[in-house]
Amino acid sequence: MSEETLSFQAEVSRLLHIVVNSLYSEKEIFLRELVSNASDACDRLRYLALTKPALTEDDPEFCIRLSADQKARTLVISDNGIGMSRDELIENLGTIARSGTQAFVDQLSGDSSKDVALIGQFGVGFYSAFIVADRVEVTSRKAGENQAWRWTSDGSGEFSIAEAERDSRGTSVTVHLKKTEKEFADPERLRHIIKTYSDHIPIPILLEGEDEKLNAATALWTFPRKDISEDQYKEFYHHVGHAFDEPWMTIHARAEGKIEYTLLLYVPSVRPFDLFNPDRRHQVKLYVKRVFITDEYEGLVPPYLRFLKGVIDSEDLPLNVSRELLQTSPVITRIKSAVVRRVMTELKKKAEKQPEEYTTFWENFGAVLKEGIYEDAERREDLLKIARFRSTVSGDDLVSLDDYVGRMKEGQDAIYYISGESLEGLRRSPQLEGFIARGVEVLLLTDAVDEFWVPTVQQYSEKPFRSVTQGAADLEKLPSDDESAEEDDQPSDSQTGTLIALLKQTLGDAVKDVRTSERMTDSAVCLVADEHDLDMHLARMLKQQGQLNELAPRVLEINPKHPLIRSLAERSTQKGASDALEDTAFLLLDQARIAEGEPLPDPAEFSRRLAGVMTKCIDATNAD
Ligand code: ADP
Ligand code: MG
Repeated sequence: MSEETLSFQAEVSRLLHIVVNSLYSEKEIFLRELVSNASDACDRLRYLALTKPALTEDDPEFCIRLSADQKARTLVISDNGIGMSRDELIENLGTIARSGTQAFVDQLSGDSSKDVALIGQFGVGFYSAFIVADRVEVTSRKAGENQAWRWTSDGSGEFSIAEAERDSRGTSVTVHLKKTEKEFADPERLRHIIKTYSDHIPIPILLEGEDEKLNAATALWTFPRKDISEDQYKEFYHHVGHAFDEPWMTIHARAEGKIEYTLLLYVPSVRPFDLFNPDRRHQVKLYVKRVFITDEYEGLVPPYLRFLKGVIDSEDLPLNVSRELLQTSPVITRIKSAVVRRVMTELKKKAEKQPEEYTTFWENFGAVLKEGIYEDAERREDLLKIARFRSTVSGDDLVSLDDYVGRMKEGQDAIYYISGESLEGLRRSPQLEGFIARGVEVLLLTDAVDEFWVPTVQQYSEKPFRSVTQGAADLEKLPSDDESAEEDDQPSDSQTGTLIALLKQTLGDAVKDVRTSERMTDSAVCLVADEHDLDMHLARMLKQQGQLNELAPRVLEINPKHPLIRSLAERSTQKGASDALEDTAFLLLDQARIAEGEPLPDPAEFSRRLAGVMTKCIDATNAD
């Protein structure tokens, strides 16, 4: 069969281009990526061979070989791992199957200084070879098959695939180095890069013509903590996590006793691009007695810790453990709960001892951790303790629920919160004004998940959570800072009553109720949800996702101290008020919707009414 030429998936082409341009300053990482792939391939075959020993019988010792030719400017990285079939070559090296890739690539600007950070979140993998290569050739023969295949590309949009020869199973990647990159065929340089980036991958790396392996080739997690340097931990993190950043936290622990296992887990310092992708899984690899088993078993780590990367190595599971067995294994259940406990303890320590560093963590992963508050009843209290929030008094800092409860006002019996899309939007909410005026702290919740855990938890430290955009404000019992002018600022009760009756009559079903409230100081009107309805932000979210057809009518609250409301209240008792105030009634409601950031149900009608009222107002001024 002759050679066939195929195109890269569009995202691959773009990504490749950006990788090559933005990662040039860290070009030697290409070797780490290729070695990492070779090591993964060996790991996978070793596991497969547990049940199909014939696959490795002819060549049982796994290793990675480098051979360099300075004259020819080539570097070959060979492994005797699992190999790839023709289809796998096309699939693995021509597309990016990870979901969210399109969205990720769209974020890349082409400005390399900005893209570097983003690329790091993605993990560049195989394509990094093109940073130093003008052509890459991959010859691979899948374990158990006889036919080998060669994949070739210059990285510019197309690759070709053809039948090839390979004596035994595995993959060889030949990097044809650019003229400027021949240093990567220099044995000294290679030795140094391997030592720096790949010392602790557990498979020996050999340089052609030398007997000594280049790396330590021992599993790092098997060493005592005191014998491991920070750099070694970091190197292993980069290897196991496909990461560029520094680990924010490293947890290395061994459990001995009823069940024995070692864990070496990392919390990244950078948020991965796909953290909120529904398909995103943790990146914790399961080993049994130093043999890689799987990195695809979701049950190992709960979803709310899916930012973890690293290794868990069990002494108690059988080597040929199957997926089914994993699912029912009490060993796994116990490891999982021990992992959660351990991570929780470490996070708590950080939160208490290094609050500033903890803030970084919380900004990255707080929203994920909060999922645990409603998913994991057992850990709920622990999670609530380490949860952090912005509030109306926090400024740029974060507050804990204990902070909040500790400074609650006298007479305050609830933990107040408001939820919405953005901090800026929330800070400007009319519903907050009365709380701010009374010095009552309100939590500002901007993660989608907040809508779910708050109703689940209902209370903290025996104080109920209460939304400031739902139900009555009940602010009367809390002392106000500006009590003074209060009484004479307000229209009489009968005037207000008339205005309310008139608004209700005019607005009809468009509102659930109209009432006065202490909730505002500067604004004239706002909307709140009825006590028995969904919180407004949740309702909007559900509607956006198509899970709710209509927003339920809300309560329109009016601020009796606002000059506009005062004037309207006076006007409402005069003759012909109901006709004269019709447009105004609808404008008040639309105004409250706008403050919520909601689209108006009838913008044209709004515009007509506004023009009418403005005209009247100007006419009145001219007449004076
Ligand atoms: P990642 O390693 O994060 O999956 P890469 O871009 O490094 O991403 O590699 C893409 C895929 O190509 C791998 O997931 C693997 O399936 C395949 N692959 C790459 N190199 C090898 C190799 N040496 N042996 C077998 N498969 C490989
Ligand atoms: Mg890889």
